[in-house]
Amino acid sequence: MLGGGSNLLVSDKGFDGLVLHVALRGISVSDAPGGAAQKIYRVAAGEDWDGFVERTVEENCAGLECLAGIPGTVGGTPVQNVGAYGQEVASAIERVRAFDLAERTFVEFSAAECGFAYRRSRFNSTDRDRYVVTRVDYRLTECGAPTLRYADLQRAFGSDAQPSLAEVVAVVRRVRQTKGMLLVEGDPDCRSAGSFFKNPVVDDEQVRQIAEKSGTEPPRFPAGPGADNQRRVKLPAAWLIEQAGFAKGYALGAAGISSRHTLALINRGGATAGEMLTLATLITQAVEERFGIARGDEFNEELNRISFHNVCARGVELDAAAREYRTFSAVELNERVLAEVDSFCGSHFQDDATLLVIAAK
Ligand SMILES: Cc1cc2nc3c(=O)[nH]c(=O)nc-3n(C[C@H](O)[C@H](O)[C@H](O)COP(=O)(O)OP(=O)(O)OC[C@H]3O[C@@H](n4cnc5c(N)ncnc54)[C@H](O)[C@@H]3O)c2cc1C
Repeated sequence: MLGGGSNLLVSDKGFDGLVLHVALRGISVSDAPGGAAQKIYRVAAGEDWDGFVERTVEENCAGLECLAGIPGTVGGTPVQNVGAYGQEVASAIERVRAFDLAERTFVEFSAAECGFAYRRSRFNSTDRDRYVVTRVDYRLTECGAPTLRYADLQRAFGSDAQPSLAEVVAVVRRVRQTKGMLLVEGDPDCRSAGSFFKNPVVDDEQVRQIAEKSGTEPPRFPAGPGADNQRRVKLPAAWLIEQAGFAKGYALGAAGISSRHTLALINRGGATAGEMLTLATLITQAVEERFGIARGDEFNEELNRISFHNVCARGVELDAAAREYRTFSAVELNERVLAEVDSFCGSHFQDDATLLVIAAK
């Protein structure tokens, strides 16, 4: 499934299967049942996320303002429970509508049924690849106050300030840009998938071991209790990576670390997926060796965007497809996919009058 492609790493060998691009569009707004001054935004999965956030802010509805400037589609947001600067979509999502590829029927999940956690949901864990998200409903608060939980935002406004949603969005965008987290034409540091690594959640004993090995107390933030009810803390992955010898601006051939953000792996120009993975592996191994933290626990398995250039359809010679598809816009790519599907199995269905094609691999 291809949303906006902002969080994908496509194998250099291509993909031996059908690629579906979700292009469902449309936004409707209604009063939330029983919710004073709350609105439900019902948004088709193919809508551009940042454009949608901008609209909610223009309409003075609070709940997503800290998530401005994140690339991708609306349908991609529940998949990894998109979050930044003190907000996650989990706290605004009312309902997710999806097509169940196993049962071949539409289903709807409440937020609780989505299994949201830190950069995680049922869609990228237990039910990975089972559902096509077609629509997301968000519950937002009309004239609500912005969320100012994140230190950078608190610093920008001071303790007594009551900024508007639009002012918060402006600061979020500015902070994102200083960290290479905003897509800006010509900025090499934003050629990433955002943060490639997650901040590991560890217990007190692991913190003690890490402090001992590094000879200094690691910075940390409360992360609530674990399954054993013991205290857990979140360690900044950036600190661990830097302690393991990888500084901002580090380069390994065409792959590298952003000069403004240790967690962002960048394509410095022409990097292959293999080169990006080599760098990611080098970093995780170094952290593992330095601190004895197991890989997989703390590092993002949901891989990241580098480029589309190896996306291809079944039956098309890989390299030729790569060259061909690179020149297509998303809409053209979608039309190509429809044609591919017709030729493979012709299986499709209609949702909200927009054709979405589902086909078995
Ligand atoms: C510069 C930059 C900054 C970023 N900053 C952040 C950030 O602050 N916080 C954050 O959380 N993320 C961030 N990201 C990551 C990315 O923006 C999000 O993960 C985004 O939600 C991906 O959406 P997409 O539509 O591009 O998904 P894609 O990259 O196309 O797909 C990502 C995954 O979701 C699946 N998927 C996509 N759409 C659907 C659908 N409709 N149904 C089922 N599965 C689907 C895909 O199959 C794939 O597994 C950043 C990325 C970049 C490039």
